[in-house]
Amino acid sequence: MNNPKYLFANWKMYLDYDESVALAKEFTKLKKALNGSIEMAVFPSALAFKGVGEALEKSEVKLGAQNVYWVDKGGYTGEVSPGMFKALGARFALVGHSERRHVFNETNHETRQKMEAVIQAGLTPLLCVGETLGEREKGQAEEVVEAQLRSGLDGLTYSNGFTLFIAYEPVWAIGTGESCDAAEAEKMHSFISRIVQGLVPDHPPVILYGGSVRDTNVMEYLKYPLIHGVLVGGAATKIESWTEIVKNATIIPR
Ligand code: PEP
Repeated sequence: MNNPKYLFANWKMYLDYDESVALAKEFTKLKKALNGSIEMAVFPSALAFKGVGEALEKSEVKLGAQNVYWVDKGGYTGEVSPGMFKALGARFALVGHSERRHVFNETNHETRQKMEAVIQAGLTPLLCVGETLGEREKGQAEEVVEAQLRSGLDGLTYSNGFTLFIAYEPVWAIGTGESCDAAEAEKMHSFISRIVQGLVPDHPPVILYGGSVRDTNVMEYLKYPLIHGVLVGGAATKIESWTEIVKNATIIPR
């Protein structure tokens, strides 16, 4: 499996416990029916983490946390640490998702603390970066994304063989139905790749696109060599739309 396509599902807060476990079981059936060219991961809510982890246990669908706090244990009401997620089977953690940055006002500094804690716990972070519509309109998209990358990655130490995951998720495309033009996304991926290679030369990144990916547009993105996969929110919360996305993704040669 030289160049798998990465199809990652962020279920956000769309599903309750029973819905999450039931959907996880459907994901495992779907993954079983595929050859090895698709890498699949699911990011359920913290509430459903244990049940989803159990449902995925014997499958090749990987598990990830949507958000973490940077301290191991302590008086931090409502928070969950990377080590706690890892103990329940997590392999990945989203860091700096646009909803964390823009709904919960998470700063680049907090995102950086989460990156350190996730790596320290032995999980793979999926660092999310992206500009707002206003920033894009002012021609600041690259500047904003570069600052997010520098603050998230500069000076971190990674073990040998560690794969860095980045998601380019323009804020204006998340959950809006307004996807980014695929050629424009590829341009941003190329920019991200250049910046990351300067910061972390020994760990070429896997870069996913996220923002209103559907079965109807997934192939557009995956045609581009620097779009290694997609991070999908809304359309990953129903087995019908997820199955169509997966089917269409398998058609694109790599
Ligand atoms: C996301 O939440 O990471 C995302 C890409 O959401 P949506 O697919 O719903 O735009």
